[in-house]
Amino acid sequence: MKVTSIDVHVLKNIFDAVQIPDQAGMRELTISSVLVEVHTDEGLSGLGESFCRHLAETHALAASVKALGAKLIGKDPRQVVRRWHELYVDAKRTGGYGALSAFDEALWDIKGKAANQPVYQLLGGDSSPVRPYATFPIHRSVQQLAEDAAWLREHGFERMKITVGSDLRQDEANIRYLQENLPDGFQFAIDANTTYTFRDAYRIGSIASEAGCMWFEEPVEHLNIRANAELNNRLSVPIAGYQTYNTHYAALPLLEANALDVYQPSLDYVGGITAAMRIGALVEAFGKAHVPHTMGPIVNFVASLHVAVADRNCHLIEHPVLSRDLSNPGQFHAGKYMANVTDIAVRPDGTIAPPEGPGLGIELDRAALQAATAEMFTVTG
Ligand SMILES: [Mg+2]
Repeated sequence: MKVTSIDVHVLKNIFDAVQIPDQAGMRELTISSVLVEVHTDEGLSGLGESFCRHLAETHALAASVKALGAKLIGKDPRQVVRRWHELYVDAKRTGGYGALSAFDEALWDIKGKAANQPVYQLLGGDSSPVRPYATFPIHRSVQQLAEDAAWLREHGFERMKITVGSDLRQDEANIRYLQENLPDGFQFAIDANTTYTFRDAYRIGSIASEAGCMWFEEPVEHLNIRANAELNNRLSVPIAGYQTYNTHYAALPLLEANALDVYQPSLDYVGGITAAMRIGALVEAFGKAHVPHTMGPIVNFVASLHVAVADRNCHLIEHPVLSRDLSNPGQFHAGKYMANVTDIAVRPDGTIAPPEGPGLGIELDRAALQAATAEMFTVTG
């Protein structure tokens, strides 16, 4: 089997921008993805996806996809690991990790379709139930968030994550308020998106420890391994991160330093399914947790679901809830171009699973895809 061509769909912003705090102040977040469709001479095609925060940046990602994609033409897509390393040596120099990730997902999709098996079966099979936690990046008062938790529980969620990092005193008050006012047994995590100084992170982390938070995500600059390790060693709240790291190699110094207790690879950026499974193996050996970061589009979310159910050490997955106006927050909505989207809805028992069809199991809604497309081109070599 050989790759013959790759259709590259550059998609418009998937939802209205939401505001989150980061190191540069308040940042507008949206999702604009590049969907790749890798075609073969045997009639099978595979889907993969990466994204940027804005359409303008996504055009740059598409250029990287075009350059890396040319290297796949004429190659066997079923040799996923060999292809991964061929693309990785280029990504190391060009920074094309988004492209590497999208292609890795697409090659696994083809491999699954060729074997007539869902990808998670090829990764070792279903090993343990996976539950979603809701990420609420939208601006809500803490009183509203406590009410939202009841709404989420009605739809199968028992956990949520909130953003902190814009106002230290407000963050302290919010954590204490949620500790007292969330529905019984409903858990929450906090995410600072690398905004705090070490001292402020320690202060918030102490309160988060008292409040029994699930984890404290990206408290300080993610590349400051020593500061993350210090927090992780001194606080009882687990420190979480990894969303902007690439590949499994980056996990080693973090594990050796005991910098994180929760590893959150973004499949769309870390190096796809191949990298995430390797991270899962490393993390399990060190007794740490694996919780995929999925703030992003839908094909990438489905790929993450396959990894999550196949990794026996992965029990939770992020589930972005980007609007309070959704009729069902358990129905993934960042991407209207998946026809069988109901297959990945949160179930009444609070678990979530990938589709059972071969490969990633995604059926495209072509009309919706066309409506979402800002630009489309084909790579042929
Ligand atoms: Mg985060």
